[in-house]
Amino acid sequence: MRVLVTGAAGFLGSHLCQRLLDEGHHVIGMDNFVTGRAQNMAALFENGGFHFVQHDVTNFVYVDGPLDAVMHFASPASPIDYLELPIQTLKVGSLGTHKTLGLAKAKGARYFLASTSEVYGDPLVNPQPESYWGNVNPVGPRGVYDEAKRFAEAMTMAYHRYHGLDVRIVRIFNTYGPAMRPHDGRVVSNFIRQALSGEPLTVYGDGSQTRSFCYVTDEIEGIYRLLMSDWVGPMNIGNPDEMTVIELAELVLELTESSSPIETRPLPQDDPQVRRPMIDRAKEVLDWTPQVPLRVGLEKTIDYFRQLGDEGRARGRA
Ligand code: NAD
Ligand code: UDP
Repeated sequence: MRVLVTGAAGFLGSHLCQRLLDEGHHVIGMDNFVTGRAQNMAALFENGGFHFVQHDVTNFVYVDGPLDAVMHFASPASPIDYLELPIQTLKVGSLGTHKTLGLAKAKGARYFLASTSEVYGDPLVNPQPESYWGNVNPVGPRGVYDEAKRFAEAMTMAYHRYHGLDVRIVRIFNTYGPAMRPHDGRVVSNFIRQALSGEPLTVYGDGSQTRSFCYVTDEIEGIYRLLMSDWVGPMNIGNPDEMTVIELAELVLELTESSSPIETRPLPQDDPQVRRPMIDRAKEVLDWTPQVPLRVGLEKTIDYFRQLGDEGRARGRA
């Protein structure tokens, strides 16, 4: 297949491109580097099947030649990124989705949307099945991301229903692993960076809120299987092992053998109290379940952060 991946310089986009190349596909990566980094793509260029185009996908997207799939992963994804870039986040989820859908339609390509567990907002149902419509505050600070993704899902389904476009929608739950930016502000990157630097681990609120963390290779496996399946409509891909943020802090301290203290900070507005995917659909349709236990995935991520060294981990500090 010849596949366009938007957001190719990002954490998930770069892993996805690598997986597609490993499967023998040709990949065109596209990114404007608003939150991504060229170094994430360094290994991809070793494969002759990879090409890169620097472009902001909220503008008209032109790609020469045929395409079999368009995978739209471009979007700021970490809460501190999308709070800093509210308009760009709304634009890439709305205009960027529209432009890439139009491209897929013109090329007769399959369309794959990277959506998110944030479409469920601060959920009143736990775990979250795909049939749950969510509890989102449209005018709160997180609304820029949540509503952009909800619009993107609606637009994707409209192209499917009205134009007959072949579409896939993955709802990605908190994913972690190598290639995360140390200063992306997400909880796993913050805690590992803080533990390795001897800084306090910053727990927001009382740390009783829950998340379920999926290692990146598991997430990409689910995404690849969904791309290759014939399932139209949303699919949760995430690890259902739920834990509190304070438990995660303690585990990171144990695995890094760090003596950093834990300090509390105010809980951000509309921070979801619970999050856990129901993955029955992925099990049944894709025969997919996560394989990497949290301890193992965290150890690999800690190794990656160690290899960056003090200087690498400090880079990109706001
Ligand atoms: P990331 O910030 O590392 O990567 C996003 C990439 O998109 C970056 O390289 C950025 O430069 C690029 N980008 C943003 N706006 C763009 C634009 N207008 N034009 C071109 N490129 C643009 O984030 P990530 O964690 O890799 O997330 C990738 C996708 O997965 C996002 O759509 C995100 O919403 C979704 N997602 C991720 C997670 C997670 O846990 N990582 C969870 C849910 C959903
Ligand atoms: N969090 C925290 N300390 C940090 C960063 C995040 O306690 O330094 C909390 C945050 O409030 C949320 C959870 O960790 O409850 C996950 O946050 P993250 O930014 O990783 O992503 P989210 O799941 O909120 O999109």
